[in-house]
Amino acid sequence: MLPTSLPTSLLPDALLPASLRATRVSIPDALWGDTLQRLPFLDYLNDDDLRRLKALCEELLQKKPLAGVGEFEVDDATAVLIAAQACVLVLNLDLSLYDDMSAILVYPEAFSVRQQHLDEAGVLHEWDEELAGEAVDQGGAVVLSWQDLMQPTEPGMPYNLVIHEFAHKIDMGRGSANGFPPFIEGLHQRAELAHWPEAFSAAYDDFCERVDLLENSLPPDFDPERDDHAELYDALAAELPLDPYAASDPAEFFAVASEAFFVAPAPLCEDYPQIYRLLAAWYRQDPLAAANSAR
Ligand SMILES: [Zn+2]
Repeated sequence: MLPTSLPTSLLPDALLPASLRATRVSIPDALWGDTLQRLPFLDYLNDDDLRRLKALCEELLQKKPLAGVGEFEVDDATAVLIAAQACVLVLNLDLSLYDDMSAILVYPEAFSVRQQHLDEAGVLHEWDEELAGEAVDQGGAVVLSWQDLMQPTEPGMPYNLVIHEFAHKIDMGRGSANGFPPFIEGLHQRAELAHWPEAFSAAYDDFCERVDLLENSLPPDFDPERDDHAELYDALAAELPLDPYAASDPAEFFAVASEAFFVAPAPLCEDYPQIYRLLAAWYRQDPLAAANSAR
């Protein structure tokens, strides 16, 4: 519960444009404390970082509409939980990286999206896909499933739905997502990021080979619906520094690598040190060094 002297919701008029919103968003300290407890991977941030992160969250929630889809209502705890994970990506960059995002929308659970693909023979294939999250390019929203974003990830596992979708949104800064986020004059050093294309292509190719090897080692009658098979797959996937989904395409590789960079950076840094260093240069953060020096 929030203190009675404060508005009962941080987002009383969430769907209004920022200029029409009367109340300035101010996250109560108790709610901020609860949020940090639910995101233990943010332990690497120092007090000054956390103050700046809170201010960025307030600015994001002030500027961007955040709402449930249909009847679903987003409470303050969920809003701040999403904002903290979205803002850690731009903590040492600029919130303007999300200027292109129209809104943050939350479904109560995984949602179905119509997908289309035109194959080489010119045949249009259409199907419904269940998604836990989606980032829509060209001024679109970030869409998240509440059930999935509330699911705590096991410590050390490199998964984070919110970071994944907001990394896509950043990647879309130059058009559609392609795994090459925009270079920001004045914040980024060209020399530090010069090897991005070769390094990311090489790491992506290597990771795809590792996922192929994993898939080839599965039993011929592999069925992901079978519990013992699913357990075997998870055990093999846990040997990888990234979720095998990173092998889907270069844009997914960047989004999944960003998840690992913030949430479980050690295996990523061990297996792909150049990718870790490039992400550290791009995000202008070094979670691994910060966590080690805090110990
Ligand atoms: Zn993705």
